[in-house]
Amino acid sequence: MSKTIPIQPAPARLDAAPETPRGLLADQLARPLRDLRISITDRCNFRCVYCMPKHVFDKDYVYLPHSALLSFEEITRVARVFVAHGVEKIRLTGGEPLLRKNMEDLVAMLAALRTPAGQPLDLTLTTNGALLAKKARGLKAAGLQRITVSLDALDDATFKRMNDVDFAVADVLDGIAAAHAAGLGPIKINMVVKRGMNDDQVLPMARHFKATPHVLRFIEYMDVGASNGWRMDEVLPSAEIVRRISADMPLEPIAPNYSGETASRYRYRDGGGEIGLISSVTQAFCQDCTRARLSTEGKLYTCLFASSGHDLRALLRGGASDAELAGAIGQIWRGRADRYSELRTAATPGLGDGARKVEMSYIGG
Ligand code: SAM
Ligand code: SF4
Ligand code: SF4
Repeated sequence: MSKTIPIQPAPARLDAAPETPRGLLADQLARPLRDLRISITDRCNFRCVYCMPKHVFDKDYVYLPHSALLSFEEITRVARVFVAHGVEKIRLTGGEPLLRKNMEDLVAMLAALRTPAGQPLDLTLTTNGALLAKKARGLKAAGLQRITVSLDALDDATFKRMNDVDFAVADVLDGIAAAHAAGLGPIKINMVVKRGMNDDQVLPMARHFKATPHVLRFIEYMDVGASNGWRMDEVLPSAEIVRRISADMPLEPIAPNYSGETASRYRYRDGGGEIGLISSVTQAFCQDCTRARLSTEGKLYTCLFASSGHDLRALLRGGASDAELAGAIGQIWRGRADRYSELRTAATPGLGDGARKVEMSYIGG
């Protein structure tokens, strides 16, 4: 029997008193606001089976019209208010963020922002790597510091089955090499592991990236959105990944880089670098979750699994002042009680839920 995990709906209207951000926001579970993920397009040139399966994202699928997207000026204005509220790290995502026209201009605008203490932001980007060979140098020149590249297999046939658009592994590896040469580092490589689909690639991927300065991170396949037909038995638990790699190349756990880090870290005992594991299914990390997400059309989501977002674009385009925007964001964050993954863990494995959740390609990873 499946259980339903309650998801807080967003109110239709945002009514908040103007406020001066002090960088001290805390939500209902005392979590500060530190990270902002910004989705800059809902489009993608891949059709990863676990994210934008072709039978849903087909030629009739209706994407957002350009007028619905936040402009670079709107994104930068919202980001500035978030930074005043305590955000130190911004990640651009999508869809495929490198598809948004002139996105290097946005990178430059965000790179110019400073924290209240005068520090630059930790500015990064997650990409499928398809356009990276072409764009790496321009991104670095625009002020991007580092990058995460998704790659689910080293075997071409497996990778093509997963991206479902016949895209070759070698082209992503070229993109990674270009990013490295451009000085975008440290580079993280994200591999979503789906049992029966690419779990035989865990060891080849580990061996390949062990010999590089890049950090490979294994991501448990998640029940994001309503399109991917998620089943618990398709999740390969992180513990199993550690066991498989360790049997061949012994690993030992290491401390997190900072509190709230999503990945748990292991290093090779022979000194050959480290790996990360993002275990949002088997080891929920909601209690440390300091992330807000801004969708392509300007909705603020306080959880990856939320069914609805708060419409900041309506405020932006309705003439709200920065103080009013800050008041709305403050009110939303103070009211936040999301802990979907923890609740899912507590519920039956293989659960289904009633509420319609937002798609990963729309909100970003
Ligand atoms: N298109 C870019 C990419 O693939 O890197 C950025 C957006 S993508 C939605 C961000 C990350 O989410 C990727 O690393 C992707 O593999 C991951 N992702 C997408 N759907 C997922 C799912 N159902 N479970 C776990 N990770 C997922
Ligand atoms: Fe596109 Fe990234 Fe989703 Fe794959 S995971 S379909 S590359 S948005
Ligand atoms: Fe954060 Fe929601 Fe994921 Fe929990 S389920 S870690 S609250 S995004």
